Amino acid sequence: RQILSHSLSATMMQRGLRNSRLVVSRRWKSTIKNPSIKISNEGSSSYSKMVLIGASSACGLMGFGLGSSFVDNSSSSSEHQDHHLPSGFPSSCCSCDEKSPEQQEKEKLLVSKLTDICGSENVISKPLEMKMYCKGARIGKDGKAVAVITPGSLRQVVQSLQIIVDANGVILPQGANTGLTGGSTPREGEDGDDEGRICVVVNMKKHLNAFFPIDNGKRVVCLAGAGIADLAAAMKPWGFPDRESHSILGSTFLNPTVAAGVAYGSGGTQLRKGPAYTDRSLYVKIDKDKWGNFVLNVANTLGVEGLQDSDFVTPECGSAIEQLDIYARDVQGQYQRAMASSTEEGLKHKSSNAQDYKTKVTTNTSPQNQKVNRYNADTSGIDVNRSEGKVFILATVHDTFPSPDHKKSYWISFDSLQNAYDFREKVALHNTHDLPISMEYMNNDSIDVICSAGKVLATLITNVGMGSPLIGMLWDVKLKVESLPFTWASTICDTFMYHLNNIMPAALPSDIQKMTNEYSHHVSVTVGDWNQDEMKHFEERMQSYKEQNKDKMKIYKCQTAREEEQLSAFRFVAAPAFRTWCVGNHVQGISVDYALPHNYTHIPQISEKGVAKRMRYSHFGCNVIHEDLAYEPNINVELAKMSLKKTVEHDCHGKLPAEHGHGTEYKAPVETQKRWKRMDPLNVMNPGIGGTSAKFKYQ
Ligand SMILES: Cc1cc2nc3c(=O)[nH]c(=O)nc-3n(C[C@H](O)[C@H](O)[C@H](O)COP(=O)(O)OP(=O)(O)OC[C@H]3O[C@@H](n4cnc5c(N)ncnc54)[C@H](O)[C@@H]3O)c2cc1C
Repeated sequence: RQILSHSLSATMMQRGLRNSRLVVSRRWKSTIKNPSIKISNEGSSSYSKMVLIGASSACGLMGFGLGSSFVDNSSSSSEHQDHHLPSGFPSSCCSCDEKSPEQQEKEKLLVSKLTDICGSENVISKPLEMKMYCKGARIGKDGKAVAVITPGSLRQVVQSLQIIVDANGVILPQGANTGLTGGSTPREGEDGDDEGRICVVVNMKKHLNAFFPIDNGKRVVCLAGAGIADLAAAMKPWGFPDRESHSILGSTFLNPTVAAGVAYGSGGTQLRKGPAYTDRSLYVKIDKDKWGNFVLNVANTLGVEGLQDSDFVTPECGSAIEQLDIYARDVQGQYQRAMASSTEEGLKHKSSNAQDYKTKVTTNTSPQNQKVNRYNADTSGIDVNRSEGKVFILATVHDTFPSPDHKKSYWISFDSLQNAYDFREKVALHNTHDLPISMEYMNNDSIDVICSAGKVLATLITNVGMGSPLIGMLWDVKLKVESLPFTWASTICDTFMYHLNNIMPAALPSDIQKMTNEYSHHVSVTVGDWNQDEMKHFEERMQSYKEQNKDKMKIYKCQTAREEEQLSAFRFVAAPAFRTWCVGNHVQGISVDYALPHNYTHIPQISEKGVAKRMRYSHFGCNVIHEDLAYEPNINVELAKMSLKKTVEHDCHGKLPAEHGHGTEYKAPVETQKRWKRMDPLNVMNPGIGGTSAKFKYQ
């Protein structure tokens, strides 16, 4: 009942906002943080039904899960304890080790100072309560932290950072903690707290999810906790229905943060926009002065009127920090205020998007060109970009983009991967002007896995929308169940979803389903029209290509908006479906993401031994591949993963990872490590990432 009433009031609130919206130009009305619920065209009753379905799924998930636990425990779950699953969440503890009285005293003092700054409600130091901040979405489970803080203002953030380093502690910046490579949770093992260094997780998402438009909606200023789904949903209520924000990730339904996107160079599906990137930011670097004191240097490249500081000032005179805090309070209090503008310097000399990306993907086409379009180890751009927590991002500026007047989605199936790539070059990447909005590839193993293990989530997303808080809430329920201290807990939800899948309706429209039986390689393309015949040109090229390649491909044009939603939901559930499939089939699984050179059109060779499934799904336009490999129980999957990394990098000249970050999972190239060491010479920020030492000054 609580879920239902919360969701309905949020829906009503959205309706209210929509009806009373004023289209503002120089002024804007801040709105309540947008709950980003999709409003069904059929009215509230059908929406309520879906909420009920969702709520009952949650109850069912819990009920069935607990009810069948003994069966699971006795049969399959014990096997799983020795298996490597793509994303396991066994119970963990953040800081329950035996500690010397001196150490305990030191930690107590730090916690008390942090409490003075942030307030007791924003300092968590009980191991059980810290758990959800200290356990990663895929890896990172036994790290130690003395506290998790959730500051309520940027001023509190910088004051806390100073207190932490003065206590010889280390800082772990955190957004929504959806990172997949262990970079957003405390380190595990002895190296994590060497020399008595204590770790504090600084979570920005909880209270600093604030953002506001500038330049008449052409750009936005985002505090570091701004969620990408909330930001996307805010454009219309702000009065800019013709603009859209930047990122759409597979994790959009979990509302990850804009700042973490920059810290990883997160990618996703948006071919015309490219990865998260900005040269305009307010961020903190930490060093020592000549007297040996820790100093926080605040760098300001925001380029926004009223938010200027000289570069590298102390936090005490950081007027941008104060101004941003006032803005954030106004947003939360729904006060109206004049819209700020970029400074001339900001507009002319600094980029707030991945500017050259469209050109890159359309001109990297010569067969000799071995360049990859984007990857995590890239050292270009100002410090914040791909910094993986080695500087502390407080705020960033990002471009918004004109929304298309209308868009269409196609499902195109090919008889071979080579033909799919040929279509990509000749039709989709023909020029920057009519580049598709997105172009996502899936092989038949991906289709099989999603059809047999992803229909529950796909159906839910199709019906309530990617940004619905209901999905995030169910995800939290799943994580909580999985971290219960029982042997069956880590697999129970997936076991349930795997069995429930059998009674769910088909996730794809029937015509597309037939095409997946006839062909092996599939591309879902969405094209837009901005009133300059972009769609017409694309369609003309596509039809003429089809005429010449009739027997090699088939095209299906989506007939309804619902079919389009089905396609995107189908693609987005690939990763969670893989885990469910592995649990249901009692096999192990590994997941990697890598960037192949733009013109590399083959599949990296791997040993076939013990491979049960090889899902390949990619951001086809830029050749960033997600690969999920299921292995029989007797295979050493860590070795298999490192062997694939070697093949990708040495034989194919690609880069691994591409968009999920190095975190604690992968060693970064020397040049990338050097760049991080220059940003954080003392190694007090997110120590131990990308294969660097976790010790003070990297000793
Ligand atoms: C189901 C699922 C699907 C996903 N799909 C995609 C996808 O399609 N594409 C993709 O790129 N990723 C994807 N991801 C990974 C993840 O969602 C992204 O990496 C996302 O950008 C992380 O955001 P976050 O707020 O959760 O960051 P966190 O996990 O909290 O942090 C990520 C990194 O950023 C650093 N960081 C966070 N905040 C700050 C700050 N203020 N200052 C400095 N450093 C900071 C952290 O220290 C950490 O190193 C997926 C994850 C899941 C669970």
